[in-house]
Amino acid sequence: MTRTYAVIGDPIDHSLSPALHNASFAFLGLDCTYIAYRIPRGELDAGIADLKKIGISGFNVTIPHKVDMMRLLDEADLECKTVGATNTVVNTNGHLKGYNTDIDGFLDPIRKRNIDLAGTDALVVGAGGAARAIVVGLARQKARKITIANRTPENAESLASFVRSLGVESDNVDIATAGDIASSFKIIINATSVGLKGIGLPISTKNITSSSIVYDIVYMPVETPLILGAKERKANIIYGWEMLIAQAMKSFEIWIGRPAPYEAMKLTLLGRF
Ligand code: NAP
Repeated sequence: MTRTYAVIGDPIDHSLSPALHNASFAFLGLDCTYIAYRIPRGELDAGIADLKKIGISGFNVTIPHKVDMMRLLDEADLECKTVGATNTVVNTNGHLKGYNTDIDGFLDPIRKRNIDLAGTDALVVGAGGAARAIVVGLARQKARKITIANRTPENAESLASFVRSLGVESDNVDIATAGDIASSFKIIINATSVGLKGIGLPISTKNITSSSIVYDIVYMPVETPLILGAKERKANIIYGWEMLIAQAMKSFEIWIGRPAPYEAMKLTLLGRF
């Protein structure tokens, strides 16, 4: 019987996940399919009941349901509990188990480049769901200090306090001036949605240096304004599409129990840009 997977969220029509997973299923000759399923805010319980009815095998969770989905899980793995959000769920006869593959997805390009963040300082711009998974990843890498810059200062302070609860030093700075101190960080991560569709710079790039690592998790377009600015400063670049593929590969492995085909995912994704 065909196994069905999905991504739930709202908006969902521009999600790249169906293309990535369907290409992988086809490449490996698996009798599986993956759909985008729009569940508006406030309708999560009914939406999940419907997915259970059709015998969904598993699903990804995206904005705005990553945190709310936690209360509908029967079981959550450690990473999912630590972050307080899930992006990957397995359905075994109605029993829902949640995972969070954003942490490993974020760390994968760092590991592939053999970058050692132990004892270093990081700037995270943004304080939403993705930023929460990212700071857990940075804590795992034994970063010395994580500074948060965010449009809404209260959200920045709340994330900084979460970082301290992980045992890592943390403070927050004004997003308007965060770029001025860019040279004091080994890695700068954009975890806001600024830069999407090529519009906007989350921070000024003028003090980024050739020893900075600039990681923009926005993946559309590939070359965001931040990445273009950081390239002019000769910084080391990590692209959002690398995290997108890595987190999708991890979800695939959780559901299917075998490695996802990296090249099939990469060709599918980059072919779409
Ligand atoms: P989220 O929970 O809604 O958080 C959005 C963040 O962006 C918040 O910090 C918000 O600040 C900030 N923000 C939004 N509009 C802004 C603006 N105009 N100016 C300044 N800051 C603004 O979303 P999320 O799940 O963390 O996702 C954030 C971005 O990362 C999205 O673009 C998403 O597509 C991308 N993402 C990429 C990957 C990947 O695999 N590459 C994975 C996950 C997410 P406030 O606190 O002030 O609202």
